[in-house]
Amino acid sequence: MTVAIVGAGAAGAAIAYALRDADADVTVFEKSRGVCGRAATRRKEGCRYDYGANYVKDDDERVTRLLTEELDTNGLVEVEEPVWTFDSAGEISPGRDSDERKWTYEDGITQLAKRLFAATDATVQRETRVETVAREEGRWSLADAADTVLGSFDTVVLTPPAPQTAELLAAMAWDDDRRVAAHDAVAAVDYASVFTAVLHYPFTLDRSWYALIDTDGEHPVGWLAREELKPGHVPEGESLLVAQMGHDWSGDRIDDDRDQVLREAVGHVAELLDDDRFAAPDWTDRQGWRYALPDGGVTGDAHRSTEDAGLYFAGDWVAGEARVHAALRNGFAVGERIVEARNAKTY
Ligand SMILES: Cc1cc2nc3c(=O)[nH]c(=O)nc-3n(C[C@H](O)[C@H](O)[C@H](O)COP(=O)(O)OP(=O)(O)OC[C@H]3O[C@@H](n4cnc5c(N)ncnc54)[C@H](O)[C@@H]3O)c2cc1C
Repeated sequence: MTVAIVGAGAAGAAIAYALRDADADVTVFEKSRGVCGRAATRRKEGCRYDYGANYVKDDDERVTRLLTEELDTNGLVEVEEPVWTFDSAGEISPGRDSDERKWTYEDGITQLAKRLFAATDATVQRETRVETVAREEGRWSLADAADTVLGSFDTVVLTPPAPQTAELLAAMAWDDDRRVAAHDAVAAVDYASVFTAVLHYPFTLDRSWYALIDTDGEHPVGWLAREELKPGHVPEGESLLVAQMGHDWSGDRIDDDRDQVLREAVGHVAELLDDDRFAAPDWTDRQGWRYALPDGGVTGDAHRSTEDAGLYFAGDWVAGEARVHAALRNGFAVGERIVEARNAKTY
């Protein structure tokens, strides 16, 4: 069986992992240079920081077992300090009772996909954007923007965020009602945008929280976290704040000049912390996530009707929850269905 997975995020990595003993020839196509998608890590000036997903939660038993038992646990770290809250007026209060565990890796959250792929024989082709998918003689043919054929496969799984998957479905050469129905269902999934501001300071921050979350959803800042509380991420004596700006605020600015948006974000962070020192980070980084978080997930089962033809969908938007553990769980489930379908044909 030949399987193509489009996207090397958490869902794509979990599918490859679920197929590792299935006698399947798996190729993963990823448009960017790295793996793990929106669970993303960068390095700069001796720091490492998770600037997309902050951590993986222990909300799913299968995922917890994966992280704490199946994959190499070397460098797996927990953030133990609490999450506090603030309201639209910027009033900070001690937190949200929660005993959830929050994991990342010393080398960053991208280790998750790296370790999943390392446990498989899958071929991961980075910097390869799949532009077209065509049904030809009962198989799936994939090509890039230059029309170079990337291969022909029995099964293909699309894991990009729903709007990008909908584009692939719209352009797909497959004259079938199931494609149209799947396209309409996938295209209907809405997304929130998030602007991420990363702010470094050459001094420590004396507070007892790991992160602050806006409980009203009306403040310009949605979430503010201290990356230095993740072991191995920030050298001693320094602070690195990761501000995920609010959905409305970010959505209104997603096409604006990124440096200008960053300057505004820095001002809001300094105001929230009520300390002018935070208005002057010594270095910064930023990312505008147009398709950051699906608002719920795909509804109905039109996206499942294509599975008979070997076309599958996976990701947080299929799971219906914008979380890494949900994308992983969905990837495992899709991988298992691919194996079952193959076995049903074989026997
Ligand atoms: C700012 C932010 C903060 C978040 N915080 C948290 C958090 O704290 N905890 C948590 O659990 N979750 C969090 N999330 C959500 C979490 O990141 C996602 O739910 C999860 O990473 C989704 O994984 P996925 O595999 O479904 O999709 P993705 O990670 O988006 O993976 C899809 C992959 O497909 C690739 N791709 C797209 N189009 C193509 C193409 N045409 N060809 C080839 N490759 C393609 C993309 O480059 C990407 O790598 C956050 C997300 C954001 C953006």
